[in-house]
Amino acid sequence: MPLNILIVGAGIAGPALAILLQKADPNSKITIVERYSSLRTAGQQIDLKTQGVEILQKMGLMDTMKSHCVNETGLEILDTSGKQLALFGINPSGEKRLTLTSECEIMRGDAVEILYEASLKQNAALKEERAGKGELVYEFNKTITDLTQHDDGVDVTFSDGQKKQFDLVVAADGQGSRTRRMAFGQEANDAAFKSLGVHAAYYSIPRIQGEGGLAKAYSAPGRRLVITRTSGRPMTQVLLFTMGDREKLRKVYKEPVEKQKEAFAEAYRGAGWETERLLSGMATCTDFYAHEVGQIRMDQLYKGRVVLLGDAAYCPSPFTGMGITCCLIGAYVLAGELARHGNDVSRALKGYEEIARPPINDYQDLQTKFLGNFFPSSQLGIWVLRKLLWVVSKVEPITYRPRAEENQGWKVPEYPELKLQS
Ligand SMILES: Cc1cc2nc3c(=O)[nH]c(=O)nc-3n(C[C@H](O)[C@H](O)[C@H](O)COP(=O)(O)OP(=O)(O)OC[C@H]3O[C@@H](n4cnc5c(N)ncnc54)[C@H](O)[C@@H]3O)c2cc1C
Repeated sequence: MPLNILIVGAGIAGPALAILLQKADPNSKITIVERYSSLRTAGQQIDLKTQGVEILQKMGLMDTMKSHCVNETGLEILDTSGKQLALFGINPSGEKRLTLTSECEIMRGDAVEILYEASLKQNAALKEERAGKGELVYEFNKTITDLTQHDDGVDVTFSDGQKKQFDLVVAADGQGSRTRRMAFGQEANDAAFKSLGVHAAYYSIPRIQGEGGLAKAYSAPGRRLVITRTSGRPMTQVLLFTMGDREKLRKVYKEPVEKQKEAFAEAYRGAGWETERLLSGMATCTDFYAHEVGQIRMDQLYKGRVVLLGDAAYCPSPFTGMGITCCLIGAYVLAGELARHGNDVSRALKGYEEIARPPINDYQDLQTKFLGNFFPSSQLGIWVLRKLLWVVSKVEPITYRPRAEENQGWKVPEYPELKLQS
């Protein structure tokens, strides 16, 4: 029996799942609701690597993604005067080199748009085959306000007052998922967020001369890190990470964006290097996004007929560079298990939990106890960190050994039922 599925959130995970679901079963009905009035295309460079690349290849989307990849050539560590102190190169896909830059990185907004467009293109292409049965519909400016589960479905109330029943509800509404809270309760929801003690802001400002392919990283006293990335694009991405001012920043995310900007401007005042220019760019930027960096760790990925996907389920944090890979693993396995079990929701969700869990646990395994070392509070601490980074930048290229072919980690399972490229 084809399923009537609701996906909450049109970021990365939601549209990726829709593509896989409608290909496997063109007669399924898929509705995606997005809280904002259009796609949210804010966000900076995100990594495409390991199993994420393999799954995009199977979906026939890797070439399009690749054509949008940015052109970052490495990372340089700078001092207050902008002098280069250390240089790191590129990390080839599938390897674990010590650097910020992956072989293939894409602007988050480009990835969101590619997946959205591909899902609509496929929807149009399947029209004849479906004979009016299945469809994919996006509804913007809409969210859910209530859900009630019973044995054979989930009753959903939407923000416009509409009520509908679905066979399966997928929470793909990101790190702060409200669907997760509705399905699992406030307590489990609050316990799922594991803060890494770092606050981050991301935004773009006009590029200036001298900003080329190399990312730049600068540490300032007061546990502040500044990264800029231009990657051959007309705009420069600014990433502010701080372990200072934590109590103040934690409270600000519920405030309007202008207040968030003010809080970060205050936290970075007098940090040195080019931060005054970066802060004045922040005042007028239109794509500011800030959050407390953390991971989402849920004991179970589904409850009844509500299933968590992507950041809502297992946000690994931007420090791992595995956010999009985890989304794609989740979407692929969930769609694959539904197809394999003939749309038997309960067996499919059990399979999803069992199969997707090991790689996700692996990618969430962050050595957080060392994180504080990258955020020294004193000038002396910064001096030590810079010396250490210089040593690592010299020693790592000569001592690095690629992993053997047979030790490349979790193998993407084959699902012939998904009718993808092998
Ligand atoms: C604006 C933005 C900027 C980001 N910038 C970066 C970045 O610079 N670097 C980085 O590593 N990661 C960034 N991320 C996170 C990154 O996108 C995720 O780690 C990863 O891609 C997982 O994708 P996802 O689809 O699970 O979640 P997300 O990409 O977060 O998408 C979730 C979607 O759900 C929508 N949504 C949220 N709540 C509701 C609701 N109640 N009802 C309906 N829809 C809802 C959101 O508007 C969004 O479109 C950003 C996320 C967002 C939303």
